[in-house]
Amino acid sequence: MRIVVTGGAGFVGSHLCERLLGDGHQVVCVDNLITGRREHVEMLSALGEFTFIEHNISEPLYLDGEVDGVMHFASPASPVDFARYPIQILKVGALGSWHTLGLAKAKGARFMIASTSEVYGDPEVNPQPETYWGHVNPVGPRGVYDEAKRYAEAMTMAYHRIHGLDTRIVRIFNTYGPRMRPNDGRAIPQFVSQALRGEPLTVHGDGSQTRSFTYVDDLVEGILRLFFASGVHEPVNIGNPSEMTVLEMARLIVRLAGSTSEVVFTERPVDDPTVRRPNIARARALLGWEPKIEVSEGLPRTIRWFRERLGG
Ligand code: NAD
Repeated sequence: MRIVVTGGAGFVGSHLCERLLGDGHQVVCVDNLITGRREHVEMLSALGEFTFIEHNISEPLYLDGEVDGVMHFASPASPVDFARYPIQILKVGALGSWHTLGLAKAKGARFMIASTSEVYGDPEVNPQPETYWGHVNPVGPRGVYDEAKRYAEAMTMAYHRIHGLDTRIVRIFNTYGPRMRPNDGRAIPQFVSQALRGEPLTVHGDGSQTRSFTYVDDLVEGILRLFFASGVHEPVNIGNPSEMTVLEMARLIVRLAGSTSEVVFTERPVDDPTVRRPNIARARALLGWEPKIEVSEGLPRTIRWFRERLGG
């Protein structure tokens, strides 16, 4: 198949493109490198039939030739980005989704939107099933991301209902692994780089807020099952239900990295979710998917990658 992946130069997108190329697909990556990396593009170019188009998908895009699939993964996604690129995030969730849905419609291609557990906001229900509508502050600093993704989901369902587009919505929970940016403000890359540099690990609040961390290979497997092997148009959670506190994660990283760093506590960001855990009954039932890689296996792989990068 010839598949367009927006955001293919980013963390998740590069792993997705790598897997698609490995499975023999042609990949057209559309990315403006706002948070992605050219080195990912160079790595992917060596793997198969890979084309890179440097383009802001919040602007229209016309492509020649047949397209079988459009996977819209472009969006800055880390807390640091919410403050730095709020308008770009809203535009790529809204206009970028509109343009990629239009491309899929014009080409008769299947469409997937990379949504997020952030559509649940600071949830009052734990774990979160897909049927939970969420608890989002639209005007807070995180609202730009949460609402952009909620809008993108609504737009995707409208194209499915009105135009009969073959659509998928994947709600991705916190994912980690090699190729994350060390300073993007997400807990794992931040803690790992601090631990490897011997700096204090900065835990927000008292660290009792929980997260559920998915290794990127598990995520990509779930994405591919949803995209290729299902006809499911409703949202599907893909995430690891093993829930832990942020403080537990910080201490685990110090131990696994063999670091002497101490843990310090900083102010909790506004609207930071108190709990986060996926209910994956739908993914289990409809995709036969569940995560295979626990943090005891995924974290050492990630730390190794960061160690090579940081030279620590
Ligand atoms: P990332 O920042 O590493 O990747 C995003 C990519 O999109 C980058 O390469 C960036 O340059 C590109 N991009 C952004 N705006 C663009 C635009 N207007 N035009 C073209 N390219 C643009 O982030 P990521 O963690 O890999 O996230 C990828 C997708 O997965 C995002 O849609 C994100 O919302 C979603 N997601 C990720 C997680 C996670 O834990 N990593 C969780 C939930 C959802």
